[in-house]
Formats: sequence, structure tokens, C-alpha cells
Amino acid sequence: MQKDAPAILTMEGLQSLFAALTRQGYRVVGPTIRDQAIVYDDIAAIADLPRGWTDEQEGGRYRLVRRDDAALFGYAVGPQAWKKFLHPPLQRLWRAEHAGNDVRVIPEAIPAERLAFIGVRSCELHAIAIQDRVFLGGAHVDPHYRARREGVFVVAVHCGTAGGTCFCVSMNTGPRATAGFDLALTEILRDDRHVFLIEAATDAGRAVLAELPHRAATAADGVDAAAVVARTAAAMGRAMRADDLPELLRRNLEHPRWDDVAARCLTCGNCTMVCPTCFCTTVEDSSDLAGRETARERRWDSCFTMDFSYLHGGSVRASARARYRQWMTHKLATWVDQFGSSGCVGCGRCITWCPVGIDITEEVHAIRASAPQ
Ligand code: SF4
Ligand code: SF4
Repeated sequence: MQKDAPAILTMEGLQSLFAALTRQGYRVVGPTIRDQAIVYDDIAAIADLPRGWTDEQEGGRYRLVRRDDAALFGYAVGPQAWKKFLHPPLQRLWRAEHAGNDVRVIPEAIPAERLAFIGVRSCELHAIAIQDRVFLGGAHVDPHYRARREGVFVVAVHCGTAGGTCFCVSMNTGPRATAGFDLALTEILRDDRHVFLIEAATDAGRAVLAELPHRAATAADGVDAAAVVARTAAAMGRAMRADDLPELLRRNLEHPRWDDVAARCLTCGNCTMVCPTCFCTTVEDSSDLAGRETARERRWDSCFTMDFSYLHGGSVRASARARYRQWMTHKLATWVDQFGSSGCVGCGRCITWCPVGIDITEEVHAIRASAPQ
């Protein structure tokens, strides 16, 4: 990805980014605090960002706590992924109206809204690229996803804080964003200086940057920015050897660890809901009580439900053991056969938001430690 020489934005410059994107017709969404978590929602100004907050994350634990500075992007990742905008949890596909003996089928309109994502992390850019392959890379392109995806303007943020459950360094997906963005920010907080190093990587990014008050970055600014990312890379909460995972897991489909994890797993599906790459859905039809209107909706589904693998006569994966093994081996092994990359980007969400703290990195360590060689 070709990037221009970096520039420096002050706080006023960053504020003007919101106005510039709005002027260009984007709906601006980014991190904000709601229900004691950092979520992605509409934002209009710097004041909407989680200034001075960070997240403490561990297996089954997430808390927002105050930082001792005024960082705007001083947290790792929250419970939501950007897939909630590109691949929403509920998508109506069509509806049908009955009038007398006639039925009129009305396909759902393709979305025309253009979104600007503020604060996208490197692991999340990798997750978006994975979902691009799923929805756009095969013979059957999803028209709703394509319309949303084509309109997106991405402002990435190179991570300045590693979460307690992050392991992007192991997965080679961060903490520095390398592709998939229009603009990228590094937040520099040093002594009483609070500025952003900004890089433009596309024509759309250059056009927006040209509207913002900025100055050229100095060599010292570059050193400060590089130090931010290096510090984050050195502070990963987790690590997981990933180079041999497909072979390791394929060799261990009957490992006793699957029984161990099944005894703890609630099969609640939280891990799939928060995962930025999970994409499985089901379709449901509904009609009003008078039978005049019918609709077909697609909604997120999970391989942890019994219904997900239900064929006539029963579920293929009836046990928790079978369902956890399906999820983990798909993420880390068969995804590679299917899509050419791992299905895990090391964001740590499935660890943080598992109610019993099951940790995909710990499960891999356990299998590796006792696997027959
Ligand atoms: S691993 Fe955790 S989050 Fe996933 S289904 Fe089991 S209990 Fe739920
Ligand atoms: S499997 Fe877990 S760590 Fe990997 S991308 Fe999904 S939520 Fe993130």
C-alpha cells in the first residue's frame, strides 16, 4: 500500500476531520461509551470519543477504567466489530404483500449510505479483509455487503494500547495497520504534547487530508509514532504459535482436551457473536397475523447452537465437544483450506466475552503441550 509522507494534526485538525467527512456525505461512526463499554456508533465530534478511558480485559472480564492522560484512542477493542455495519445482525432480504389472489415480492433495497469508520485497528482491518473474501470473493457475491463495503472510508488507528487478551503479533495482524485504510492515525502523547501523526494511503484519503489544517511531520515525530506501536507490540496480553496450527489440530481431532473444554463451555455462542470474522447466518420467514405481509430476514447464527447443524432427524454436532471443536478447528485450520488464511486475527474478543473465560490461546497451548508428536 503506497503511503504519502506523514503529516501532523493537532486536536483542532482532528476535529475538522469530522466536519470534512460529513461535508463529503459520509455518516461518521466510531468509538464511544455506552453501557460501560466502548461501542461503535454515530459520532459527531472529538467529545464523543472515549477520552481518558481504557479497557481492562481478561478471560471473561471487561472493565472501563480511567487513564492518567487524555488519550482518545487509549483502549484496545470493545465487544463490537465493524461487521455490525457491513454484515448487520439482522438483514431483511425481501418482503411480500398479498392483495386478493396476487402476491407482490419486493426485494430489500440495496443500501446507499456511505459510512466513515473512525479508529479501525489493524486486527479489524484484517478481519474486514477476511469478510471481503467471504462475501465478495466467491461465485456468489452478497449485494448488501458489497454496497456497504464499497462506500466505506476508513480512518485507521495504529494501536497505542494492547488489551489483556490481544495476540495480534502472533497472528501477524498488528498492531500497526499496513493495508485497507484511507487515512491512518498514530496518537502521540508526550509530556504536554497531544497530536496525531496522519498518513494518507488512497486518493480519497488525500482529498480529505487536504481539507484539514496540518503540517509536515518531522523525523522526531516519526520516531515518537514508531515508539507508540513498538510499545504496544511488546505489551501483548497473549501469545500463540500459529504457523503449524492446521496440521496440529488436524492431527488431534480426538484429543482429550476437547472433553475438558466441553465441560466448561456453555455453548452460548458469545464467542461467535463478538468475533469480527464469524459470518454464519440463518434465514427466517415471518408473516403478520392477517397473512397480508410476509418477510424473509437473515440473522447471525452460531455453530454453537443445536439448530445450526440440524438435518432431518437431528443435529450433526449434538455435543458441546463437537461444537467447540468445530468452531476452533474452523477458525484455525479449515478456514485456511476454505479462504486461504486463518479465520482468527488475534483480537481477543472471544476470550474477553466468554462468560466462563475459555481462552482459544490456552486451548491451543494445552493441545500442543500434550499432543502426540
Ligand atoms: S467458548 Fe465461551 S463464549 Fe464460546 S460458546 Fe463456549 S461458553 Fe460461550
Ligand atoms: S477467534 Fe477470537 S481472537 Fe480470533 S478473531 Fe475471533 S474473536 Fe478475535
